[in-house]
Amino acid sequence: MMITVEIVDKWMELFYQKISEQKAYLSELDTPIGDGDHGNNMMRGMQGVKDGLAKLSEPDLKLTFKTIAMSLISKVGGAAGPLYGTAFLEMAKNCEETKEPAELFKLALEGIKKRGGATTGDKTMIDVWAPVVDALAAASLSVEKVKEAAEGTRDLVAKKGRASYLGERSVGHLDPGAVSSQYLFESFIAAGGIK
Ligand code: ADP
Ligand code: MG
Repeated sequence: MMITVEIVDKWMELFYQKISEQKAYLSELDTPIGDGDHGNNMMRGMQGVKDGLAKLSEPDLKLTFKTIAMSLISKVGGAAGPLYGTAFLEMAKNCEETKEPAELFKLALEGIKKRGGATTGDKTMIDVWAPVVDALAAASLSVEKVKEAAEGTRDLVAKKGRASYLGERSVGHLDPGAVSSQYLFESFIAAGGIK
């Protein structure tokens, strides 16, 4: 499987729709363990992505990824913006070498870890990204696995980001960034990314 501009355009269109539908829910998830803005942050970011991509004429994959990255970095605002932005910047940097989702998402994940200093088990978006990267490498990614990964953040103690201020009291709540990452990968699958 190779990622193409057509797949990425469809992917971003579906992710935009999902964020629009789930904006209130994502901010609700961010309320008990954060500052209640994750849905609004992601909606601003995805509006930026939509506008940015619409302005491109005959874009290649690199420019498409770069435009997504820059829109997320400049529009999301919260901690998630630079992290998602870094992920897409890594994909822009590496997509001339490889167009394999398994490899590109792995490099993106490394970028997120480096940028935010978090790792698996810290109750962040990484707890969705890491199992997705592993499943892609094993050619066994499914929407069920993505959802399961996001659900798995409920039992974790937050070690990074705002939720970490709550320590043990963060247990019992889903991580909002893990859920937005769930939507990101569900959208990728729906866009034909792993067919
Ligand atoms: P903020 O926390 O600044 O309000 P958001 O609410 O938009 O930003 O995003 C919060 C999400 O960002 C968290 O749910 C978590 O998944 C993710 N996040 C926060 N810090 C980190 C980090 N250091 N590494 C990875 N993900 C992080
Ligand atoms: Mg927040």
